[in-house]
This record gives sequence, structure tokens and C-alpha cells, in this order.
Amino acid sequence: NQKSAQEVNPLIREFVNLSYHGMRAGKNPIQVNLQLDLMEDVGEADLIVEDFSRVILNICNNAFDSMREKLNSQSQNEDNDYEPTLRAHSSLKNGKILIEIKDNGTGIPDTIREKILQPFFTTKKGTEGTGLGLSITHDIIKAHGGELQIESKEGEGALFKILIPQKSNES
Ligand code: ADP
Ligand code: MG
Repeated sequence: NQKSAQEVNPLIREFVNLSYHGMRAGKNPIQVNLQLDLMEDVGEADLIVEDFSRVILNICNNAFDSMREKLNSQSQNEDNDYEPTLRAHSSLKNGKILIEIKDNGTGIPDTIREKILQPFFTTKKGTEGTGLGLSITHDIIKAHGGELQIESKEGEGALFKILIPQKSNES
């Protein structure tokens, strides 16, 4: 498994859709408004495709879990108009490729913010979560010379920002 130059937008589209279809075919499917906003040509990055797929899949799988949890907790009250929405957006920022994956699920409580990148940290019950997803995701992003930023407001959702170097034309 070696790095090679890859167009980033088609990979984002492929793996977000893969996660979505996996969720839809899985045990507890939910209806989600999926927004792929990949208009800007962000070009190529040096990627190990299999590793990059895990980054996108892990983040999207968590987003679907979080929106399912919120949906289940909202379904009790009659007048809920909650629409689970996942948005994937890419753009260029200071010569780097910025990938943003945003959900409007439960959000991440401040009390666990520091812990979610640690291996084996999970808030999911039983065998639902291994707590390895984000730890592996973070390692992969670092191995690609990138960084991961997480923004969240409890109750409103979470935003995962991945920054990776864009492959320059000369090299
Ligand atoms: P797992 O999914 O197996 O629990 P992860 O490493 O993927 O492990 O995630 C760790 C924890 O981070 C989750 O259990 C959850 O509490 C929190 N988390 C991750 N992504 C989100 C999200 N999009 N919204 C809310 N909480 C999240
Ligand atoms: Mg996970």
C-alpha cells in the first residue's frame, strides 16, 4: 500500500456514498439528507486510497450513529421536525485541501472532547463501538502530513475538518 497521486473529490464522493449505502443496508437505517458539495476543483493529493477510505468511512459512520441517536431521542415528542443532514464539502485553503464533514446529530459534549481521539474511547453500548475509529482516522491523517480539527456544539452537531497537502504540479 503506497501513496499515489489521487483526485480527491471523486474519492470523497465514493466513500461518503459507500458509508451512506452501508448505513441504509444495515441494522438501523435512517433517512438522511445527503449533501455533497464538491464544486471547487481541489486537485490531487498523495494518498493511500485504502487508508483515505477509512478516514471518510469512520467519520461518516460516526455521523450517522449520532444522527440516529438524536432521531431516537426526538421521536418521543410529537412536534419534532428534525431532519438528519450530512454535508461533505471540499475546498482549497492556503494551498491545502480542506475536507469538511458536518452532521446535525447529538454533538460532542465538552467533557469528552479531549478523549474521542484516544484508542478504545467510546460512548456506544455493548459491541456497537470499538472506540478505534477516530484514533485510526487521526493516525492516518497525520501519516499523510495532514491535520484533523473537530468543532462541535452539544445538541447541534459536529464538524470534522481534514486538512491535507495538495499535490503540487511540479513534483
Ligand atoms: P466508536 O464509533 O467505536 O465509538 P470512534 O473512535 O469512532 O469510536 O468515536 C469515539 C466517540 O466519539 C464516539 O463513541 C462518540 O461518543 C464520539 N463521536 C465521534 N463522532 C461523533 C459525531 N459525529 N457526533 C457525536 N459524537 C461523536
Ligand atoms: Mg466510530
